Amino acid sequence: MFRSAICAYSWDFSAKSLDDDLDRIRGEWGIRELALWVAAPPVSRLLTAGGGVRVEHAEGGCSFAPREEFYSRTRLRPAPARPHRAGPGLDSILSACRSRGIEARLLISASRAGRMVSNHEFAAVKPLSGEPSRHSLCLLNAEVRAFLEAMVEDLSTREGVASLELRDLVTREGDLWDRDARWRESLGDEQIGLAGLCACESCRRELARADVDVDCLIHSLQDSLERGGDETPSASLKPPALMASSALSHFARFAEFRAKSLAELAAALLRASACPLVLHQCGDADEVLQHAGLDARLLPARSLDLVDELPQPGEAPTGIMLNLHAVNWRPPRRLPTELVRLCNRAADAGYAGVTFHTLPELFPPLASAVRQAARYTRRHDAGSRSC
Ligand SMILES: [Zn+2]
Repeated sequence: MFRSAICAYSWDFSAKSLDDDLDRIRGEWGIRELALWVAAPPVSRLLTAGGGVRVEHAEGGCSFAPREEFYSRTRLRPAPARPHRAGPGLDSILSACRSRGIEARLLISASRAGRMVSNHEFAAVKPLSGEPSRHSLCLLNAEVRAFLEAMVEDLSTREGVASLELRDLVTREGDLWDRDARWRESLGDEQIGLAGLCACESCRRELARADVDVDCLIHSLQDSLERGGDETPSASLKPPALMASSALSHFARFAEFRAKSLAELAAALLRASACPLVLHQCGDADEVLQHAGLDARLLPARSLDLVDELPQPGEAPTGIMLNLHAVNWRPPRRLPTELVRLCNRAADAGYAGVTFHTLPELFPPLASAVRQAARYTRRHDAGSRSC
């Protein structure tokens, strides 16, 4: 079955419009799955729906009321998002989805849920520069890990939650890896990877226990960063080159240790969850390195962003939802042809389905294109690949 889903923030709905919006998504567009952000990173969106252009900034954060009994093993608590518009609560959205036969997949940023750091600075990533991160939590911190387990338990046991999607399952200064950041062009993955490494107290303690000489590692990384300024960086370094070109004796052991630690965290979250877990991967070189210990058998369901060309027919790995962002179908004049073509090719490649990001961008004039693309996915369900 080829699926189609819509991604939204809770503040994309209003208590007044929720029923109408979901009726439209399910009835008019024929979409049966809502991917809803409940622990979201900071975001800036360029919105063009309804005429005109406006930029919307949101600090991110958690948009659900935590059930206190789950969080006794950690000092961290979900930091409430500060939406610019009051939206309906999670339980109202889940209930409205349930009554329409819409499956809810809740999206959780493990390390970058906005405002978590400002409320819990002791758990922040501390890059080599020494300035604590403003948005990234360190996933090697035991209290952060306990918090994530608690949040997964809390959310996965709510009625109407079909699955959870884990995002940003990485330990790093996440702001450096923003796809739209200007330095992505001028610095290579290697330098960004090194600059984003965490050297917080938890990391130092854990690394020392794993017999990695932390001071030596940090000195050689700083050295490498300074030298890197004189070299021409390569934006296309892949993980093996990242490690080899660093020529750091301690870095390989550190990377191996961190990957093992993240795999243990993923296994613990899987045990804590009462529903299936989907792992999101954006696919940059540093994330590939950090996910090296994650066995695909552990978390087989994944979601990927469409960054490059789609694979040839039949060559996509199984069980993967493909994320289509506005950038994938701009300029809008190519709609709806472009959206239908993308869905068509994604289905032929073997993906499990597509998720359209994000809801406000999809309202008129894009709604007709989404409806047409979703209709294609329904026809595909019925066994026809023509569109
Ligand atoms: Zn750390």
